[in-house]
This record gives sequence, structure tokens and C-alpha cells, in this order.
Amino acid sequence: MTHTHWHLATRCIHVEGHADALGSPHTPLYDTTTFRFPDTQALCEVAEGRRRGYFYSRYGSNPTIHSLEARLASLEEADGALAFASGMAAISATLLAHARNGIVCIGEIYGGTRALLQNQLASLGLPVTEVAAGNTTALDNALQAGARLVYLETPANPTLEIIDIAAVAETAHQHGARVVVDSTFATPVNQQPLVLGADLVIHSATKYLGGHSDLTGGVVAGAAVLLEPIDAWRRNLGQTIAPETAHLLSRSLATLDVRVARHNASALTIAQAMKAHPRVRQVLYPGLPEFPGHAVAARQMRGFGGMLTLAVDGDATATSAVADRFGLFALAVSLGGVESLVSQPALTSHRSLDPATRAARGIGDNLLRLSIGLESPDDLLTDLNQALAIL
Ligand SMILES: *Cc1c(COP(=O)(O)O)cnc(C)c1O
Repeated sequence: MTHTHWHLATRCIHVEGHADALGSPHTPLYDTTTFRFPDTQALCEVAEGRRRGYFYSRYGSNPTIHSLEARLASLEEADGALAFASGMAAISATLLAHARNGIVCIGEIYGGTRALLQNQLASLGLPVTEVAAGNTTALDNALQAGARLVYLETPANPTLEIIDIAAVAETAHQHGARVVVDSTFATPVNQQPLVLGADLVIHSATKYLGGHSDLTGGVVAGAAVLLEPIDAWRRNLGQTIAPETAHLLSRSLATLDVRVARHNASALTIAQAMKAHPRVRQVLYPGLPEFPGHAVAARQMRGFGGMLTLAVDGDATATSAVADRFGLFALAVSLGGVESLVSQPALTSHRSLDPATRAARGIGDNLLRLSIGLESPDDLLTDLNQALAIL
């Protein structure tokens, strides 16, 4: 499959080689669990992989799921992609398939992934080493000790820390290790980890790919040889995306490029305006030239995303009071939808870390994480200014 023929904006809408037999401009919803065969010989040919065909939807063998996966693969410039019932399903199948000799995590990772590693996967005897971003010596040492999988998120939650994907891939590959990037915050519009040297890329499709806070899904994309064992875990753990959700997600992807362009532009406008606010101590946004990861972000990203975090001038209680004052921003976890959301990471995504660990990682009680939606940025700024006015 070639992905270079069309620009990414076009590939959000058109999937090469996926014309519908009856002329539908998109692949319709096959809300079908099984597929009928004319005779036993035909069934055996498909079951044994000697002929392409559809078989059973839990296997991902369904036209609606296939066309979604072809589109996701194309957006990430990958051989293939597998769609899952959630981001955590994609992450757990990937780690179960590829992390048997241990895993090195770089920087901040999603709370659910951290819990999976520390609780469930630890109980299976999988060693996990945590390494700070940019510490090449620690990464080298961890890989020397035998780990064969490096896992990272960039931009990371909630500090928007940027990790240099190409640099990590170079170090990991010297040791024969694979690199997995959770690129949920960036989307394929802003960042393509496989092009930068990563081996697998993961998304929680629940966020920007779905984009409307109305579906839960996940994806992993990469080389066919790496997807094969992940596919086996997906099949036998029963983690495949439902055809109904796959259809909704395909529809959402059609507008991904347009939505992300607006998320990027609005977040930058708001980040710049918040820099001048007297009750905001710091604005964490990769698009600001003074942000520590800006140079790397400018190199590896095409846009800086819709997520930004404010360090406000107040303690935990005062920060919660600001969060409670918003009118347009909804106080809610999650991100990446058309609606703007606000959350206080110390009380939500990073609640399970003890306060000293949070402080050491720069996750103060005074942080407010904003998911900038597609509303008018003027209205969002008005809401921010009135909420911050109580400080
Ligand atoms: C939300 C999220 C996940 C988990 O995705 P679900 O769809 O909720 O399972 C994983 N990684 C990141 C960065 C996320 O934001």
C-alpha cells in the first residue's frame, strides 16, 4: 500500500483501494458478527488464510473495521493498523505481545498505563524501569540490563513535556529494542512517530481521533510483523472495536485535519493571551518559544496541539475554586473533543501519585489542564478571564 500519493488531509477522507461495490462514497456499517460462505471449500480457504475474505467480526474480519484500519495505517504511514475497543485495550495488547523481557518507560505516562504496568503486568513478572526524559545514560543502562521495549508519550500529560522520538529510537535500536509511542495528544496530523523512527504508534481514539466525546476506541499502527502478535492477543482477549464504533470513528477521521488545525490555532492564541495574565504563573504549551521542549517540538511536530496547562497563582483550594467557576469550559476528565474541558491533574489524572512524587515531577496542585475545543477562542478567553478573576 502506498501512502505518499495524497496529502494527509486527503487521506483523512479517501482510502486508496477501498471503493465500495455498490458505489457508497464511504464503507457502510456492516453490523455483522459473521459472514456466509457458498460452500465448505470457500470457508476453509478463508479460515486458513489462502483467500482474502470476511469471517468473524471479533477477529477484526469485517469490512467496516478493515476500512477504518486502512485509513489509520495510511495516516500514520504504516504497513497496517489494528483498531481496539479502547486506548487501554491497544496499550495492553501491545505490551503483552512485545514486552516480555521488560519495559523502559520514559517520562510521564498515562495513569491507566502506569496502573497496568505496576499492578497487572508486574504480577506477570514483567520488570519496568522508569527513566527521566533526556537521560540517555539511564536509558542505555536500562537497555543494557535486557529490556527490549521502550515506551513513551509525547507530548506528555499534563506538563506537555516533549520527548525527542528520533533520539530515543536511535539509542533503543542500538540495543535491538523497539520503541512504542503513545501519540494521543499529537494526532497523526501533528506528529508521525513511525516516520521519526518509532516502531509502533498508539492512540486513544477516544480523544482527538473520535473528537466528539461520543466514542471509546484505540489503535496501534506499525509494521505487519510487529502487528501480528498484537492481533493474536486482541483476538483472544476479545478487544476488537465494535463495527458500530468503527463506523463512527471513520466518520470522525474525515474531519480530523480540519479539527486539529483549529485546535492548534485556538490553543496557541489562548496560550499567548494567558502569558500576559497577572494570575497565571506559567503557561505550559509546546508552541511557546520559551517552553523547554519547543525546539524539539518544532522539529518533530507540524502543529503544537490543543492541550495546554496553566500554573495559576494559588494553592490547591484556590485552584479548585477557579475550576468550579468556569461556565463554557466543562469540568471533566478526557480531552480532544469539540467541547473545551478543564481539569486539575493533582485531583484527577495524577491523584494516585503521592504529593511529593507529583511535586518532583512538576505536577503542582495549582495546575489546570485545558483541552481547547472548537468554540470561538474569544468566548473561551472570556470564560478563562472571568474564572481567573477570583484569584
Ligand atoms: C485517554 C488516554 C489513554 C487511554 O485511552 P482510553 O480510550 O480511555 O482507554 C491512553 N493514553 C493517553 C495519552 C490518553 O490520554
